[in-house]
Amino acid sequence: NLNAAEDNDDLKKLEKSFDLLFDKVQPLSLVNHNLTLLVPSDFYKEYIEDNYLSLLSAALRKNIGKGVKLWYSVMENKPAGKEKPITQKVKGISTPAPKIQEAMPKAKNLVNPLVAPGIRKVNIESNLIPHLSFDNFVEGESNKFASTVAKSIAKRPGATAFNPLFIHGGVGVGKTHLAHAIGLEVKNNFPEKVVLYLSSEKFIQQFVSAAKAQNKTDFQNYYQMVDVLVIDDIQFLSGKAATQDSFFHIFDYLHQNGKQIVLTSDKAPVDIQDIQERIVSRFKWGLSAEVKSPDFDTRRKIIVDKLSRDGIVLTDDMVDYLAGEVKSNVRELIGVINSVIAYSTIYKSELSLELLKDTINKIASTQKKVINIPYIQEVVCEYFGLNREQLLSKSRKRDIALPRQLAMYFSKELTNATFSKIGEEMGGKDHSTVMYAVETIKDVSKIDKEIKKYVKDLSERMKQ
Ligand code: ADP
Ligand code: MG
Repeated sequence: NLNAAEDNDDLKKLEKSFDLLFDKVQPLSLVNHNLTLLVPSDFYKEYIEDNYLSLLSAALRKNIGKGVKLWYSVMENKPAGKEKPITQKVKGISTPAPKIQEAMPKAKNLVNPLVAPGIRKVNIESNLIPHLSFDNFVEGESNKFASTVAKSIAKRPGATAFNPLFIHGGVGVGKTHLAHAIGLEVKNNFPEKVVLYLSSEKFIQQFVSAAKAQNKTDFQNYYQMVDVLVIDDIQFLSGKAATQDSFFHIFDYLHQNGKQIVLTSDKAPVDIQDIQERIVSRFKWGLSAEVKSPDFDTRRKIIVDKLSRDGIVLTDDMVDYLAGEVKSNVRELIGVINSVIAYSTIYKSELSLELLKDTINKIASTQKKVINIPYIQEVVCEYFGLNREQLLSKSRKRDIALPRQLAMYFSKELTNATFSKIGEEMGGKDHSTVMYAVETIKDVSKIDKEIKKYVKDLSERMKQ
C-alpha cells in the first residue's frame, strides 16, 4: 500500500527497493491467520522486519484482518539436518509467545519459488519410510480387507467414506506398514498434498511442549495444514485428556475440510481405555479395518516374496516348513527370513531343509522363555482349571493336592530354586513337604499312567 506515501524521491527509492526485495519473496501459506513468507535468506527476513513491517502490517490487517501472525521460511541451502526452522516474527503484527519455534515444525525441502509462484503450502516433512510401500506389502487373507481399503484411500484421500480409516490388529501384523504405504502412495499420486506420518507418542510429546510454551493454538494450526494425517498407535492417547482435547479439534477441523485421517491401534476403537467418548465415536465415523495374524497361506506368500528379492528360491516343502513354524506375526516371520538369508550367505551352500530346521532351532533357543515359579504355577493352574489361590491353599483334596505337587516338582526340575524357596512360593509350605512332593511325583510318574501323562503334557506346555 504505497499510495499513502508522498509522491517524492523517497517514494521512488522505496518503490525500487520494494520491488527488488519482494520480487524474491514468496507467500508460502496462509492458514488460520498464519501467513508464511518464503524468503531467500536471513538477510531478507531482517530487511523486511526493519523496513517494511508497518507497511506489511497495515496491508495484512486490511486484507486479511486483525491478529495475523507472520512467519518466515528461510530458503538457504544448508547441509542436511541443519535446515532453518520457520523463524518467528517478533515486532508489530502480533506477538506470538516466546519459544514458538519449538512448537512449529521445521520447513524442509522447500521448493524454488521462482518455478511456481502463488500461495502454496509449507512442505512439512512427511516422515514416511520409503520401503514401507504397497509394492513391498504382501497381500493375503489376513490383511486383504485393510489393504484394499488403504489403496482406495490413497487414490482419493479425504474423498471416500473411509474417513477416518482406523486400522487395528495385534503386534507385528503390518499396521504401521500399511499406514506408511497410504502416505507414500498419496505422495505418488498427488505430490502437492501435505502428508504427515507420526506416532501418537510424538504427537503427545509435541503437544506437551507446545502446552508448556503456551502455544496450543499454533500446535493445532500446524496440524491443520495437513491433507493426510497419519497417527500410528493412537491407543497411547489413552489417559491423556488434554492431548485428546487438542486431537479432537484437529480431527474435526481436518474431517470437516475433507482431509484424510488414518489411525492405527492395537485395539478396536471401543476397546481403548480412558479415551473420550466423543473421540471413540469419531473413530467409528469412517471405517475400522482389522489386520489379522497372518494365516498359513499369507505366511507362505511373504516368505516367497521376501526371499525372492534376495534371489533365494526355496522348495515347496521348505516354504511349508517355515510357514508352519513361525505363526505369531509378520515381524517375527521376517526375522526368521532374514536369518535364513544370512545363513545361506554365510554357508554359501545350497539351502536344505536340515539347515532351515537348524536355523529355526537356534533362533528358538536364543528366545527361550525364562521359566520361573509363578510361570509354572500359571501353566499348572491353566491345565487343571484351578485358580492360583486354590493351588496355594492347604486343601488335601486330590484334585488340588496333585496339581500342587506337580507344580512343586516342576519348580525343582526347571528352576534352580531350593526346596525352602519353592515352599515359600507355594503358599508357605515347609521344605520337607516340597521334598516329599518332588520325590512322590518322580516315583509315581514312572508307574502311574495318568501322572505320567500330566508330567508329559505339562512339560510341553512349560516350554511353549
Ligand atoms: P505393526 O505396526 O502391526 O506392529 P508393522 O507394520 O511394523 O507391524 O510390521 C512388522 C514388520 O513386518 C515390518 O517390517 C513390515 O514391513 C512387515 N510386514 C508386515 N506385514 C507385511 C506384509 N503383508 N507384507 C510384507 N511385509 C509385511
Ligand atoms: Mg506399528
